[in-house]
Amino acid sequence: MSETSRFRSLEDGHGALKGAQTAWDMLSEEQMQKHITTGCEELDAILGGGIHCKEVTEVGGVPGIGKTQLGIQLAVNVQIPVECGGLGGKAVYIDTEGSFMVERAHQIAEGCISDLLDNTAHRLKDFPACPERLQPNSFLANIFYFRICSYTEQIATINYLEKFLEEQKDVKIIVVDSITFHFRQDFDDLALRTRVLGGMSLKLMRFAKKYSLAVVLLNQVTTKFVEGSFHLTLALGDTWSHACTNRIILYWNGNDRHAYIDKSPSLRSATTPFLITGKV
Ligand code: ADP
Ligand code: MG
Repeated sequence: MSETSRFRSLEDGHGALKGAQTAWDMLSEEQMQKHITTGCEELDAILGGGIHCKEVTEVGGVPGIGKTQLGIQLAVNVQIPVECGGLGGKAVYIDTEGSFMVERAHQIAEGCISDLLDNTAHRLKDFPACPERLQPNSFLANIFYFRICSYTEQIATINYLEKFLEEQKDVKIIVVDSITFHFRQDFDDLALRTRVLGGMSLKLMRFAKKYSLAVVLLNQVTTKFVEGSFHLTLALGDTWSHACTNRIILYWNGNDRHAYIDKSPSLRSATTPFLITGKV
């Protein structure tokens, strides 16, 4: 082999490793990490800024704790204009339970806008186009809503999303409310169910990375009474959710709502109380 051809073959070898990243790239990427605010300062603080883009976050909790409220809030907050420190993105909301309320989304958008006008008015005056965009109806127009009535429809929709995201590059969050609902009801083959759910969350993780968006999977937990105390169990267990990078559990502590970081590669586990209010 001649010197030049050996050199070329080494270069080719390097080409095959193009996907590799240096630790420095990873650190810079982490520092540039984009977040979507939850609207709750304390919760953002323990999350290191909010819900992370490029990652899958699972939010578990008992019925009525506020998972859907958080999902709608994130679908609104992802739209906070860049001028106000947000992502100026759009949302995909996949509703398997039929619990998305458009009136509530409108109310949450009003709350978000009024907070922006109170807190970032000084920034907005340099961007005359901004106040026009700050209308609840424009926020609603940027939430792409999919109502899913069966697990087959859910699988088909997640498969179709790839094409949708290619066309809608502004989508910065996908909320699935909830990921397990139809699988709890109508799926008998347990091993197959775990595989299908696992495959679905892997696909969503791929979308998160490829399109730099956040994926939020809402999931019900059930409480089990074991050895004298209550234990929370994720609906359908844990085996399917290896593709989720982060997990937040919402729970009741007396009459107060709390959020707990149960799993994260970069955050320490922490707990904070949170509120659901009429305004936000
Ligand atoms: P989950 O999805 O976890 O089952 P939800 O997100 O549907 O729970 O939360 C429902 C709860 O949110 C209600 O019980 C109520 O306490 C609160 N909530 C819903 N809408 C409002 C509102 N407009 N103002 C204040 N609280 C609200
Ligand atoms: Mg709900």
